[in-house]
Amino acid sequence: MNIKILKAGYIYQDGEYLCDSAIAFDKKIIKIDSLENLKELYPQATVEILSDLTVIYPGFINTHTHLEFSANKTTLEYGSFVPWLYSVIKSRDELINSCDDLVMSSAINDMLRSGITSFGAISSYGSDLQSCIEAPQRVVFFNELIGSDPKMVDVLYNDFLERLNQSSNYADSLITPAIAIHSPYSVHPIVAQKAINLAKHKKLTLSTHFMESMAEKEWLDTNEGDFKEFFSKFLSQNSAVTSKEDFLNLFDNYSTHLVHATQIDNDDIKKIAENNHTIAHCPRSNRFLGTTNLPLKSIIDNKIKFTTATDGLSSNYSLNIFEELKSALMIHSDISVELLADELIKSVTKNANEVLNLNSGELKEGYNADIITLTLPDIPSTLKHISLWSILHTKEVDSVFIAGKKVL
Ligand SMILES: [Zn+2]
Repeated sequence: MNIKILKAGYIYQDGEYLCDSAIAFDKKIIKIDSLENLKELYPQATVEILSDLTVIYPGFINTHTHLEFSANKTTLEYGSFVPWLYSVIKSRDELINSCDDLVMSSAINDMLRSGITSFGAISSYGSDLQSCIEAPQRVVFFNELIGSDPKMVDVLYNDFLERLNQSSNYADSLITPAIAIHSPYSVHPIVAQKAINLAKHKKLTLSTHFMESMAEKEWLDTNEGDFKEFFSKFLSQNSAVTSKEDFLNLFDNYSTHLVHATQIDNDDIKKIAENNHTIAHCPRSNRFLGTTNLPLKSIIDNKIKFTTATDGLSSNYSLNIFEELKSALMIHSDISVELLADELIKSVTKNANEVLNLNSGELKEGYNADIITLTLPDIPSTLKHISLWSILHTKEVDSVFIAGKKVL
């Protein structure tokens, strides 16, 4: 592959914005230096000079989405978690059946246009595997395990294993198999433990929805609340299969990506930090399903790594990461807007890479050349606000490179 050199007004590296620099890459990033030095080092390289208002970022990484529910627009009921869940159960077959490859590839393209070069796809049925294989992006394919009824768990576990094996057959593609445990309330701890042991044994990335709604917290803590009727009606279950604490203990010493975590308290935060778990922040999904805000300030103060993620179209109106970043920026008024903007850019680059383990998300020598460019509307008066202005003024990016190849 030919070496390419890109020069722009700014290059984002290690949380800073470098001026007057250029980046050389083939499939991997080779070097960041002045244009003159790079031209001298790589005289055969193709050079592209972008605008002085252009910022070069590592490709953004969306750690949590559900492509199989991409057909939802005006079907599922928003506002509160359990009524939404009833509407999912009522319309699930219709939504899954109408979610064909075209619907999923459109969702994948929306991500791409907003600069997402890698994503984590939670797959409940495996029907999104083909679309993920064909996607231009890197995909961490999270095969999801669900099942709380002891009579059903073996069948469901075997189905999960089959899907996991199926997704492991594409070593030459950009797909990496991974494991997702649905949630503390929906997975029996015996099979959850089995799947966690398997993740450890195969060194697979592990994720779980955790403390998403007030209903979940109440059910796990007291066996009461909105979930009571739901579980009695659908599963003849009068109490939760586990407690919050016992569930979280299952993941001790194996860094796990906890999705939502809006209802965590200080003890949970301490435990999450101790075990190097990470958190996926999905502000729009949380808002639409009626939950309270993630305690993001405390998460940052406790040095817990978080990502900003779109969740699926089952609880969102788009998979555009800039829309997600803007929403996150608006709701955490206890964090200064400048610091928050920097943290948010980090959340979809360096942090998200550490969660999905892709060797992307940073513009550093030897990392994958997953690169995006966007252009600010005017000359920034200070470097301190480039994260903020990038988030505020961007709807879609200008160009996208994955493994050095221009895909947009
Ligand atoms: Zn989810």
